[in-house]
Amino acid sequence: MKKNSSLKIFIAVLSFIFLNNLFITTNAQNKTNKFTIVIHGGAGFISKDIPDSTKKAYINSLKIALTIGKNILAEGGKSIDAVEQVIRYMEDNPNFNSGKGAVFTANGTHELDASIMDGKDLSTGAVAGVTIIKHPITLARKVKEKTKHVLLVGPGADQFGKKIGVEIVDNHYFDTPRRLQNWKKRHNKKINKHGTVGCVAIDMYGNISAGTSTGGLSDKMYGRVGDSPLVNAGTYANNKTCGVSATGIGELFIRNTVAFNISALMEYKGLTLKQAADEMILKRLKPGSGGIIAVDKGGSYVFSFNTPGMFRGVANSKGLFEVKIWE
Ligand code: ASP
Repeated sequence: MKKNSSLKIFIAVLSFIFLNNLFITTNAQNKTNKFTIVIHGGAGFISKDIPDSTKKAYINSLKIALTIGKNILAEGGKSIDAVEQVIRYMEDNPNFNSGKGAVFTANGTHELDASIMDGKDLSTGAVAGVTIIKHPITLARKVKEKTKHVLLVGPGADQFGKKIGVEIVDNHYFDTPRRLQNWKKRHNKKINKHGTVGCVAIDMYGNISAGTSTGGLSDKMYGRVGDSPLVNAGTYANNKTCGVSATGIGELFIRNTVAFNISALMEYKGLTLKQAADEMILKRLKPGSGGIIAVDKGGSYVFSFNTPGMFRGVANSKGLFEVKIWE
């Protein structure tokens, strides 16, 4: 009897050690030391005549944003955290059209849109037309994680932000002298109204996430919503294929379901990320519409745009670290 129970204990201990080892090995197999991250700060007509100081400010801002994301991923962090933190920084940076520095609507106020998607389970959160949320990307993530919904809009989204305890600001907080001047002039000839921000990353566990945040198009109608908070149009992520964040004339990206179609062309037609992105941006959209940044499940990245410039950057585990504005 005694012999029998010690045998049972012995077998139990052995199975525990075996299962534990199996779990550790499986985990180790899933974890690589590879990651890739891409960011954008909008696409459009960006004159090469912009003053050196302005150019430097953009390049520096892109470098800081990229470093934030790269460090999170290099330490083994999750792509969803890298995407959120990069975009939060860009929302605080008045050079970009998201958060502080967002463009004005035709009514002279700010209405912000953002979305975030996790390619592991296709979970998504988005907000549109928020007016008092300092970091719309964080509220989008809260929608993803704390509600059963995907998209909250306008006063309901602002109210949810207050309830959940994200940072609240007055709508004038988003004002910047440059945007006000542009709005008054209606058209700025040097840097036009683009400047949306986005980030896509794949982490060491092979999880792809994507996010986009914007003030929308300058002078937009009160209540207008673009592609940025719309999953499938302005943002998409799927571990089976790729992650995408778009920027440009939102109406065109919505009509052409750009972000999802890039993934679909890869999944259903076997196109590479570059072929799929170029099909949508260079063949289906008319010149001047905008562009996308994307990363695929193998860690390859693509910038595809049909505008003269796009504020963008890429970093990966192989030591690549690059930011660019024009070709
Ligand atoms: N796509 C954004 C929108 O239409 C604007 C932009 O990317 O510049 O709201």
